[in-house]
Amino acid sequence: MTNETRHRRQGADPSKKRTEASKQARRKKRRRRQLRLIVLRFGALAVLLGLFIYLIVGNPLGIESINKSGKDKNQVGEPTTDEIDNEVEEDLEAKRLKEMELEADRAIKESNALVLGYYYDEALARLDEFDAKYEAEFGKNQKIQEARAKLEEEISSLTPFGAFSSVEEVHHIFFHSLIADPKKAFDGDYKENGYNYYMTTVDEFKEMMKQMYDAGFVLVSIHDLVEAVEQDDGTIVMEVSDLLLPPDKKPFVLSVDDVNYYEYMKGDGFADRIVIDKNGRPSTEMTLEDGSKVVGDFDVVPVLETFLEGHPDFSYQGARGILALTGYEGALGYRTNDPSSPTYEEDKATVIEVAKVLREWGWEFASHSWGHRDMDKYGYDFLVSDTNKWLDEVGSLIGPTDIYIFPYGIDIEDTGPYDGPKYEYLREKGFLYYCGVYKAPWMQYTKDYVRMTRRPLDGQAMLQFPERLQDLFDLEKVIDKTRPPLR
Ligand SMILES: [Zn+2]
Repeated sequence: MTNETRHRRQGADPSKKRTEASKQARRKKRRRRQLRLIVLRFGALAVLLGLFIYLIVGNPLGIESINKSGKDKNQVGEPTTDEIDNEVEEDLEAKRLKEMELEADRAIKESNALVLGYYYDEALARLDEFDAKYEAEFGKNQKIQEARAKLEEEISSLTPFGAFSSVEEVHHIFFHSLIADPKKAFDGDYKENGYNYYMTTVDEFKEMMKQMYDAGFVLVSIHDLVEAVEQDDGTIVMEVSDLLLPPDKKPFVLSVDDVNYYEYMKGDGFADRIVIDKNGRPSTEMTLEDGSKVVGDFDVVPVLETFLEGHPDFSYQGARGILALTGYEGALGYRTNDPSSPTYEEDKATVIEVAKVLREWGWEFASHSWGHRDMDKYGYDFLVSDTNKWLDEVGSLIGPTDIYIFPYGIDIEDTGPYDGPKYEYLREKGFLYYCGVYKAPWMQYTKDYVRMTRRPLDGQAMLQFPERLQDLFDLEKVIDKTRPPLR
Protein backbone atom coordinates (compact mmCIF):
# COMPACT_ATOMS: atom_id res chain seq x y z
CA MET A 1 0.00 0.00 0.00
CA THR A 2 1.47 3.32 -1.01
CA ASN A 3 1.25 6.39 1.18
CA GLU A 4 -0.95 8.06 -1.43
CA THR A 5 -3.70 5.38 -1.43
CA ARG A 6 -3.60 5.20 2.33
CA HIS A 7 -4.08 8.92 2.53
CA ARG A 8 -6.90 8.86 0.02
CA ARG A 9 -8.75 6.08 1.76
CA GLN A 10 -8.38 7.64 5.17
CA GLY A 11 -9.48 10.94 3.68
CA ALA A 12 -12.65 9.56 2.05
CA ASP A 13 -15.84 11.14 3.44
CA PRO A 14 -14.22 12.19 6.72
CA SER A 15 -17.25 14.11 7.92
CA LYS A 16 -19.91 11.42 7.26
CA LYS A 17 -21.19 9.42 10.18
CA ARG A 18 -21.75 5.71 9.68
CA THR A 19 -23.70 3.08 11.52
CA GLU A 20 -21.73 0.56 13.62
CA ALA A 21 -22.84 -2.26 11.24
CA SER A 22 -21.68 -0.44 8.17
CA LYS A 23 -18.43 0.48 9.95
CA GLN A 24 -17.86 -3.16 10.84
CA ALA A 25 -18.70 -4.26 7.30
CA ARG A 26 -16.19 -1.75 5.91
CA ARG A 27 -13.56 -2.90 8.44
CA LYS A 28 -14.16 -6.52 7.43
CA LYS A 29 -13.97 -5.61 3.77
CA ARG A 30 -10.74 -3.67 4.37
CA ARG A 31 -9.25 -6.59 6.26
CA ARG A 32 -10.24 -8.99 3.45
CA ARG A 33 -8.68 -6.65 0.89
CA GLN A 34 -5.52 -6.44 2.93
CA LEU A 35 -5.47 -10.22 3.31
CA ARG A 36 -5.95 -10.66 -0.43
CA LEU A 37 -3.09 -8.29 -1.13
CA ILE A 38 -0.82 -10.16 1.26
CA VAL A 39 -1.78 -13.51 -0.28
CA LEU A 40 -1.24 -12.13 -3.78
CA ARG A 41 2.11 -10.71 -2.86
CA PHE A 42 3.28 -13.95 -1.25
CA GLY A 43 1.95 -15.89 -4.20
CA ALA A 44 3.91 -13.71 -6.65
CA LEU A 45 7.03 -14.10 -4.51
CA ALA A 46 6.60 -17.88 -4.34
CA VAL A 47 6.21 -18.14 -8.13
CA LEU A 48 9.32 -16.01 -8.68
CA LEU A 49 11.28 -18.06 -6.14
CA GLY A 50 10.11 -21.35 -7.65
CA LEU A 51 11.04 -20.19 -11.15
CA PHE A 52 14.43 -19.05 -9.89
CA ILE A 53 15.16 -22.39 -8.19
CA TYR A 54 13.89 -24.33 -11.18
CA LEU A 55 16.13 -22.41 -13.58
CA ILE A 56 19.25 -22.13 -11.45
CA VAL A 57 19.34 -25.18 -9.23
CA GLY A 58 17.65 -27.57 -11.59
CA ASN A 59 14.29 -28.50 -10.15
CA PRO A 60 15.11 -29.84 -6.71
CA LEU A 61 11.68 -29.40 -5.20
CA GLY A 62 9.86 -32.08 -7.14
CA ILE A 63 8.12 -29.75 -9.62
CA GLU A 64 8.73 -32.56 -12.10
CA SER A 65 6.52 -35.00 -10.23
CA ILE A 66 3.69 -32.45 -10.20
CA ASN A 67 4.12 -32.07 -13.95
CA LYS A 68 4.06 -35.81 -14.45
CA SER A 69 0.77 -36.20 -12.62
CA GLY A 70 -0.58 -33.36 -14.76
CA LYS A 71 -1.79 -31.35 -11.76
CA ASP A 72 0.24 -28.30 -12.67
CA LYS A 73 -0.90 -26.85 -15.93
CA ASN A 74 1.80 -25.25 -18.02
CA GLN A 75 1.77 -21.53 -18.49
CA VAL A 76 2.51 -19.83 -21.80
CA GLY A 77 6.08 -20.43 -23.09
CA GLU A 78 6.95 -23.20 -20.63
CA PRO A 79 7.99 -26.69 -21.90
CA THR A 80 5.40 -29.46 -22.00
CA THR A 81 5.52 -32.41 -19.62
CA ASP A 82 7.02 -34.68 -22.28
CA GLU A 83 9.68 -32.17 -23.16
CA ILE A 84 10.67 -31.90 -19.52
CA ASP A 85 10.74 -35.68 -19.16
CA ASN A 86 13.07 -35.97 -22.14
CA GLU A 87 15.31 -33.22 -20.87
CA VAL A 88 15.51 -34.83 -17.46
CA GLU A 89 16.38 -38.18 -19.01
CA GLU A 90 19.00 -36.59 -21.23
CA ASP A 91 20.39 -34.76 -18.21
CA LEU A 92 20.58 -38.00 -16.27
CA GLU A 93 22.25 -39.84 -19.12
CA ALA A 94 24.78 -37.04 -19.66
CA LYS A 95 25.48 -37.08 -15.94
CA ARG A 96 25.93 -40.87 -15.92
CA LEU A 97 28.20 -40.68 -19.00
CA LYS A 98 30.33 -38.04 -17.38
CA GLU A 99 30.49 -40.08 -14.18
CA MET A 100 31.53 -43.15 -16.22
CA GLU A 101 34.32 -41.25 -17.96
CA LEU A 102 35.60 -39.88 -14.65
CA GLU A 103 35.51 -43.38 -13.19
CA ALA A 104 37.42 -44.71 -16.22
CA ASP A 105 40.16 -42.13 -15.62
CA ARG A 106 40.27 -43.06 -11.96
CA ALA A 107 40.42 -46.81 -12.72
CA ILE A 108 43.33 -46.28 -15.13
CA LYS A 109 45.18 -44.07 -12.66
CA GLU A 110 44.77 -46.59 -9.84
CA SER A 111 45.67 -49.48 -12.14
CA ASN A 112 48.88 -47.66 -13.19
CA ALA A 113 49.78 -47.04 -9.54
CA LEU A 114 49.36 -50.78 -8.87
CA VAL A 115 51.64 -51.57 -11.83
CA LEU A 116 54.30 -49.22 -10.37
CA GLY A 117 54.24 -51.40 -7.25
CA TYR A 118 54.35 -54.61 -9.39
CA TYR A 119 50.82 -55.63 -8.37
CA TYR A 120 49.90 -56.87 -11.86
CA ASP A 121 46.92 -59.08 -10.96
CA GLU A 122 45.45 -56.29 -8.86
CA ALA A 123 46.01 -53.79 -11.70
CA LEU A 124 44.05 -56.01 -14.10
CA ALA A 125 41.36 -56.57 -11.49
CA ARG A 126 40.93 -52.81 -11.14
CA LEU A 127 40.13 -52.51 -14.86
CA ASP A 128 37.79 -55.52 -14.64
CA GLU A 129 36.02 -53.85 -11.77
CA PHE A 130 35.29 -50.88 -14.03
CA ASP A 131 33.90 -53.11 -16.77
CA ALA A 132 31.69 -54.98 -14.33
CA LYS A 133 30.16 -51.67 -13.33
CA TYR A 134 29.68 -50.00 -16.72
CA GLU A 135 30.07 -52.40 -19.65
CA ALA A 136 26.48 -53.68 -19.65
CA GLU A 137 25.14 -50.14 -19.83
CA PHE A 138 27.65 -48.36 -22.06
CA GLY A 139 29.54 -51.13 -23.90
CA LYS A 140 33.32 -51.36 -23.99
CA ASN A 141 35.20 -48.22 -22.95
CA GLN A 142 37.93 -47.22 -25.40
CA LYS A 143 40.34 -45.86 -22.78
CA ILE A 144 39.96 -48.94 -20.57
CA GLN A 145 40.47 -51.20 -23.59
CA GLU A 146 43.72 -49.43 -24.43
CA ALA A 147 44.91 -49.51 -20.82
CA ARG A 148 44.20 -53.25 -20.63
CA ALA A 149 46.01 -53.97 -23.90
CA LYS A 150 49.06 -52.03 -22.66
CA LEU A 151 48.96 -53.82 -19.31
CA GLU A 152 48.60 -57.27 -20.89
CA GLU A 153 51.56 -56.54 -23.12
CA GLU A 154 53.63 -55.52 -20.10
CA ILE A 155 52.59 -58.65 -18.22
CA SER A 156 53.54 -60.88 -21.15
CA SER A 157 57.01 -59.30 -21.17
CA LEU A 158 57.69 -60.14 -17.51
CA THR A 159 60.43 -62.64 -16.84
CA PRO A 160 61.52 -64.58 -13.72
CA PHE A 161 64.04 -62.53 -11.68
CA GLY A 162 64.04 -59.75 -14.29
CA ALA A 163 67.53 -59.01 -15.60
CA PHE A 164 68.97 -61.94 -13.65
CA SER A 165 68.84 -65.45 -15.04
CA SER A 166 68.37 -67.23 -11.71
CA VAL A 167 67.56 -66.69 -8.06
CA GLU A 168 71.24 -67.19 -7.13
CA GLU A 169 72.16 -63.94 -8.85
CA VAL A 170 69.86 -61.83 -6.72
CA HIS A 171 71.79 -59.35 -4.56
CA HIS A 172 71.50 -59.00 -0.82
CA ILE A 173 73.08 -55.89 0.65
CA PHE A 174 73.29 -54.90 4.28
CA PHE A 175 74.02 -51.96 6.54
CA HIS A 176 74.38 -51.13 10.19
CA SER A 177 72.66 -48.13 11.76
CA LEU A 178 73.43 -45.10 9.62
CA ILE A 179 75.55 -42.18 10.79
CA ALA A 180 73.18 -39.22 10.80
CA ASP A 181 75.78 -36.71 12.01
CA PRO A 182 79.27 -37.55 10.61
CA LYS A 183 80.93 -34.78 12.66
CA LYS A 184 80.05 -36.67 15.85
CA ALA A 185 80.96 -40.13 14.53
CA PHE A 186 84.25 -38.99 13.01
CA ASP A 187 85.41 -36.87 15.93
CA GLY A 188 88.78 -38.54 16.51
CA ASP A 189 87.79 -40.57 19.58
CA TYR A 190 88.56 -44.28 20.04
CA LYS A 191 85.33 -45.34 18.34
CA GLU A 192 85.93 -43.37 15.16
CA ASN A 193 87.80 -46.12 13.31
CA GLY A 194 85.10 -48.70 14.03
CA TYR A 195 82.41 -46.42 12.67
CA ASN A 196 84.59 -45.67 9.65
CA TYR A 197 84.87 -49.42 8.92
CA TYR A 198 81.38 -50.69 9.61
CA MET A 199 78.99 -47.81 9.19
CA THR A 200 77.52 -45.86 6.30
CA THR A 201 76.29 -42.27 6.54
CA VAL A 202 72.72 -41.17 5.80
CA ASP A 203 73.89 -39.18 2.77
CA GLU A 204 75.92 -42.11 1.43
CA PHE A 205 72.90 -44.39 1.85
CA LYS A 206 70.65 -41.93 0.01
CA GLU A 207 73.08 -41.70 -2.90
CA MET A 208 73.41 -45.52 -3.01
CA MET A 209 69.65 -45.96 -3.19
CA LYS A 210 69.37 -43.32 -5.90
CA GLN A 211 72.07 -44.93 -8.03
CA MET A 212 70.67 -48.41 -7.54
CA TYR A 213 67.23 -47.14 -8.50
CA ASP A 214 68.65 -45.51 -11.65
CA ALA A 215 70.41 -48.80 -12.52
CA GLY A 216 67.09 -50.69 -12.40
CA PHE A 217 67.35 -52.33 -8.98
CA VAL A 218 64.12 -53.27 -7.21
CA LEU A 219 63.80 -54.06 -3.52
CA VAL A 220 62.23 -57.48 -2.88
CA SER A 221 61.59 -59.56 0.22
CA ILE A 222 63.72 -62.63 0.81
CA HIS A 223 60.36 -64.42 0.97
CA ASP A 224 59.72 -63.41 -2.66
CA LEU A 225 62.74 -65.46 -3.79
CA VAL A 226 62.24 -68.86 -2.22
CA GLU A 227 58.93 -69.57 -0.58
CA ALA A 228 58.12 -71.77 2.34
CA VAL A 229 55.22 -73.90 1.09
CA GLU A 230 53.24 -75.83 3.65
CA GLN A 231 52.42 -79.37 2.58
CA ASP A 232 49.27 -81.34 3.36
CA ASP A 233 51.04 -83.13 6.23
CA GLY A 234 52.03 -79.78 7.79
CA THR A 235 55.71 -79.96 6.84
CA ILE A 236 57.34 -77.10 4.99
CA VAL A 237 59.09 -77.38 1.65
CA MET A 238 61.14 -74.50 0.26
CA GLU A 239 60.32 -73.74 -3.37
CA VAL A 240 61.95 -71.21 -5.67
CA SER A 241 59.33 -68.73 -6.78
CA ASP A 242 59.23 -67.36 -10.28
CA LEU A 243 59.47 -63.75 -9.22
CA LEU A 244 58.16 -62.01 -12.34
CA LEU A 245 59.73 -58.64 -13.14
CA PRO A 246 60.19 -56.44 -16.19
CA PRO A 247 63.26 -57.71 -18.10
CA ASP A 248 65.43 -54.71 -17.15
CA LYS A 249 64.79 -54.90 -13.40
CA LYS A 250 67.32 -56.35 -10.93
CA PRO A 251 65.91 -57.65 -7.65
CA PHE A 252 67.81 -57.14 -4.40
CA VAL A 253 67.23 -57.81 -0.71
CA LEU A 254 68.22 -55.31 1.97
CA SER A 255 68.95 -55.92 5.63
CA VAL A 256 70.08 -53.82 8.57
CA ASP A 257 72.05 -55.45 11.38
CA ASP A 258 71.97 -54.58 15.06
CA VAL A 259 68.93 -52.29 14.99
CA ASN A 260 69.30 -51.94 18.74
CA TYR A 261 70.85 -48.46 19.09
CA TYR A 262 73.43 -49.66 21.60
CA GLU A 263 74.59 -47.58 24.53
CA TYR A 264 78.10 -47.18 23.08
CA MET A 265 76.66 -45.21 20.13
CA LYS A 266 75.12 -42.49 22.29
CA GLY A 267 76.39 -39.02 21.45
CA ASP A 268 78.10 -40.25 18.29
CA GLY A 269 75.60 -38.97 15.73
CA PHE A 270 73.16 -41.91 15.54
CA ALA A 271 69.42 -42.15 16.07
CA ASP A 272 68.33 -43.30 19.57
CA ARG A 273 65.43 -45.51 18.64
CA ILE A 274 62.68 -46.29 16.18
CA VAL A 275 59.40 -44.49 16.79
CA ILE A 276 56.11 -44.03 15.01
CA ASP A 277 55.78 -40.41 13.90
CA LYS A 278 52.67 -38.23 14.19
CA ASN A 279 51.48 -39.44 10.78
CA GLY A 280 51.66 -43.09 11.83
CA ARG A 281 54.82 -43.73 9.80
CA PRO A 282 57.86 -45.59 11.15
CA SER A 283 60.62 -43.10 11.86
CA THR A 284 63.60 -42.47 14.13
CA GLU A 285 64.18 -40.23 17.12
CA MET A 286 67.49 -38.55 17.79
CA THR A 287 68.84 -36.39 20.62
CA LEU A 288 70.34 -33.08 19.60
CA GLU A 289 73.29 -31.25 21.20
CA ASP A 290 70.99 -29.28 23.53
CA GLY A 291 69.28 -32.45 24.74
CA SER A 292 66.09 -31.92 22.77
CA LYS A 293 64.66 -34.85 20.82
CA VAL A 294 63.68 -34.71 17.16
CA VAL A 295 61.91 -37.22 14.95
CA GLY A 296 63.13 -37.53 11.37
CA ASP A 297 65.08 -39.41 8.71
CA PHE A 298 68.11 -40.49 10.77
CA ASP A 299 68.39 -44.17 9.83
CA VAL A 300 67.58 -46.69 7.11
CA VAL A 301 63.88 -47.15 7.96
CA PRO A 302 62.64 -43.57 7.50
CA VAL A 303 65.23 -42.62 4.86
CA LEU A 304 64.07 -45.53 2.70
CA GLU A 305 60.42 -44.72 3.35
CA THR A 306 60.99 -41.17 2.16
CA PHE A 307 62.83 -42.39 -0.94
CA LEU A 308 59.99 -44.80 -1.74
CA GLU A 309 57.43 -42.01 -1.55
CA GLY A 310 59.08 -40.48 -4.59
CA HIS A 311 60.07 -43.80 -6.24
CA PRO A 312 57.27 -46.33 -5.65
CA ASP A 313 58.66 -48.63 -8.37
CA PHE A 314 61.75 -49.22 -6.20
CA SER A 315 59.80 -51.75 -4.11
CA TYR A 316 58.24 -54.99 -5.34
CA GLN A 317 54.76 -55.46 -3.87
CA GLY A 318 55.47 -53.39 -0.78
CA ALA A 319 58.79 -55.04 0.11
CA ARG A 320 61.02 -53.34 2.69
CA GLY A 321 64.19 -54.39 4.48
CA ILE A 322 64.95 -56.96 7.16
CA LEU A 323 65.77 -55.56 10.60
CA ALA A 324 68.14 -57.88 12.48
CA LEU A 325 67.96 -57.59 16.26
CA THR A 326 70.13 -58.85 19.10
CA GLY A 327 68.72 -59.00 22.61
CA TYR A 328 71.38 -58.02 25.14
CA GLU A 329 70.40 -54.34 25.04
CA GLY A 330 66.75 -54.77 24.20
CA ALA A 331 65.24 -54.04 20.79
CA LEU A 332 64.84 -51.07 18.45
CA GLY A 333 66.40 -48.67 20.98
CA TYR A 334 64.24 -49.73 23.99
CA ARG A 335 65.99 -51.45 26.91
CA THR A 336 63.50 -54.30 27.16
CA ASN A 337 66.30 -56.59 28.40
CA ASP A 338 66.30 -55.05 31.87
CA PRO A 339 63.33 -55.88 34.16
CA SER A 340 64.67 -53.42 36.76
CA SER A 341 64.29 -50.49 34.34
CA PRO A 342 61.56 -48.09 35.56
CA THR A 343 60.12 -48.06 32.03
CA TYR A 344 60.38 -51.85 31.49
CA GLU A 345 56.66 -52.59 31.00
CA GLU A 346 56.07 -49.41 29.04
CA ASP A 347 59.06 -50.11 26.76
CA LYS A 348 57.87 -53.65 26.07
CA ALA A 349 54.44 -52.33 25.08
CA THR A 350 56.09 -49.73 22.85
CA VAL A 351 58.29 -52.29 21.08
CA ILE A 352 55.24 -54.47 20.43
CA GLU A 353 53.43 -51.49 18.90
CA VAL A 354 56.41 -50.20 16.88
CA ALA A 355 57.13 -53.70 15.54
CA LYS A 356 53.50 -54.10 14.55
CA VAL A 357 53.56 -50.85 12.56
CA LEU A 358 56.92 -51.76 10.97
CA ARG A 359 55.46 -55.07 9.80
CA GLU A 360 52.40 -53.31 8.42
CA TRP A 361 54.74 -51.10 6.37
CA GLY A 362 56.48 -54.19 4.97
CA TRP A 363 59.54 -54.38 7.24
CA GLU A 364 60.61 -57.84 8.37
CA PHE A 365 62.59 -59.03 11.37
CA ALA A 366 65.47 -61.42 11.87
CA SER A 367 67.20 -62.89 14.86
CA HIS A 368 70.78 -61.68 15.04
CA SER A 369 71.25 -63.88 18.15
CA TRP A 370 70.77 -62.59 21.71
CA GLY A 371 74.39 -62.07 22.69
CA HIS A 372 76.09 -61.40 19.31
CA ARG A 373 78.68 -64.19 19.52
CA ASP A 374 80.52 -66.15 16.86
CA MET A 375 78.12 -69.09 16.61
CA ASP A 376 80.63 -71.22 14.74
CA LYS A 377 83.15 -70.96 17.57
CA TYR A 378 80.64 -71.32 20.42
CA GLY A 379 79.19 -74.76 21.03
CA TYR A 380 75.76 -76.30 20.56
CA ASP A 381 74.60 -75.68 24.14
CA PHE A 382 75.48 -72.01 23.90
CA LEU A 383 73.55 -71.63 20.65
CA VAL A 384 70.53 -73.36 22.19
CA SER A 385 70.39 -71.15 25.28
CA ASP A 386 71.18 -67.98 23.29
CA THR A 387 68.44 -68.76 20.77
CA ASN A 388 65.88 -69.47 23.49
CA LYS A 389 66.78 -66.25 25.26
CA TRP A 390 66.31 -64.29 22.03
CA LEU A 391 62.95 -65.93 21.32
CA ASP A 392 61.88 -65.26 24.90
CA GLU A 393 62.98 -61.63 25.20
CA VAL A 394 62.85 -60.31 21.62
CA GLY A 395 60.80 -62.75 19.56
CA SER A 396 57.99 -62.45 22.11
CA LEU A 397 57.76 -58.70 21.36
CA ILE A 398 58.37 -58.47 17.63
CA GLY A 399 56.49 -61.61 16.60
CA PRO A 400 57.52 -64.78 14.80
CA THR A 401 60.37 -64.72 12.30
CA ASP A 402 62.01 -67.34 10.10
CA ILE A 403 65.20 -65.39 9.29
CA TYR A 404 68.48 -65.84 11.16
CA ILE A 405 71.32 -63.43 10.48
CA PHE A 406 74.63 -64.67 11.86
CA PRO A 407 76.57 -62.38 14.22
CA TYR A 408 79.68 -61.07 12.41
CA GLY A 409 78.29 -62.80 9.33
CA ILE A 410 79.97 -66.03 10.46
CA ASP A 411 78.03 -69.10 9.35
CA ILE A 412 77.67 -72.18 11.58
CA GLU A 413 78.86 -74.58 8.87
CA ASP A 414 81.00 -74.55 5.71
CA THR A 415 79.45 -74.19 2.25
CA GLY A 416 78.26 -77.80 1.98
CA PRO A 417 74.57 -78.42 2.73
CA TYR A 418 73.69 -77.99 6.41
CA ASP A 419 73.57 -81.21 8.38
CA GLY A 420 74.85 -80.37 11.88
CA PRO A 421 72.96 -80.20 15.20
CA LYS A 422 73.15 -76.37 15.43
CA TYR A 423 71.29 -76.09 12.16
CA GLU A 424 68.85 -78.80 13.26
CA TYR A 425 68.06 -76.81 16.38
CA LEU A 426 67.57 -73.50 14.57
CA ARG A 427 65.40 -75.23 11.96
CA GLU A 428 63.31 -76.78 14.73
CA LYS A 429 62.78 -73.25 16.10
CA GLY A 430 61.35 -72.17 12.74
CA PHE A 431 64.34 -70.54 11.04
CA LEU A 432 64.28 -71.17 7.28
CA TYR A 433 66.45 -68.34 5.92
CA TYR A 434 70.11 -68.08 7.03
CA CYS A 435 72.26 -65.11 6.14
CA GLY A 436 76.01 -64.70 6.32
CA VAL A 437 78.36 -62.19 4.68
CA TYR A 438 80.33 -62.52 1.47
CA LYS A 439 81.75 -60.09 -1.08
CA ALA A 440 79.53 -61.32 -3.95
CA PRO A 441 76.02 -62.76 -4.28
CA TRP A 442 75.83 -66.39 -3.16
CA MET A 443 72.85 -68.57 -2.40
CA GLN A 444 72.18 -72.17 -1.52
CA TYR A 445 68.76 -73.69 -1.11
CA THR A 446 67.39 -77.12 -0.43
CA LYS A 447 63.83 -78.19 0.27
CA ASP A 448 64.53 -77.39 3.94
CA TYR A 449 66.21 -73.97 4.01
CA VAL A 450 67.79 -71.05 2.16
CA ARG A 451 71.28 -69.69 2.75
CA MET A 452 71.99 -66.31 1.27
CA THR A 453 75.10 -64.22 1.81
CA ARG A 454 75.03 -60.46 1.95
CA ARG A 455 77.41 -57.78 0.73
CA PRO A 456 78.38 -55.07 3.20
CA LEU A 457 78.05 -51.53 1.83
CA ASP A 458 80.07 -49.95 4.61
CA GLY A 459 83.18 -47.80 4.94
CA GLN A 460 85.51 -50.77 4.65
CA ALA A 461 83.92 -51.90 1.38
CA MET A 462 83.97 -48.36 -0.02
CA LEU A 463 87.50 -47.40 1.08
CA GLN A 464 89.38 -50.73 1.18
CA PHE A 465 87.64 -52.75 -1.57
CA PRO A 466 86.08 -50.20 -3.91
CA GLU A 467 86.43 -52.61 -6.86
CA ARG A 468 83.87 -54.90 -5.19
CA LEU A 469 81.22 -52.24 -5.46
CA GLN A 470 81.87 -51.18 -9.03
CA ASP A 471 78.86 -53.08 -10.34
CA LEU A 472 76.63 -51.07 -8.02
CA PHE A 473 77.86 -47.50 -7.71
CA ASP A 474 79.91 -44.63 -8.91
CA LEU A 475 81.65 -44.42 -5.53
CA GLU A 476 83.05 -40.96 -6.25
CA LYS A 477 79.50 -39.67 -5.85
CA VAL A 478 78.77 -41.84 -2.82
CA ILE A 479 81.65 -41.57 -0.35
CA ASP A 480 81.30 -38.90 2.32
CA LYS A 481 84.26 -36.56 1.91
CA THR A 482 84.51 -36.07 5.67
CA ARG A 483 85.46 -39.74 6.24
CA PRO A 484 88.95 -40.02 7.71
CA PRO A 485 91.34 -42.58 6.13
CA LEU A 486 90.99 -46.15 7.49
CA ARG A 487 93.53 -46.99 10.18
ZN1 LIG B 1 75.95 -57.56 14.10
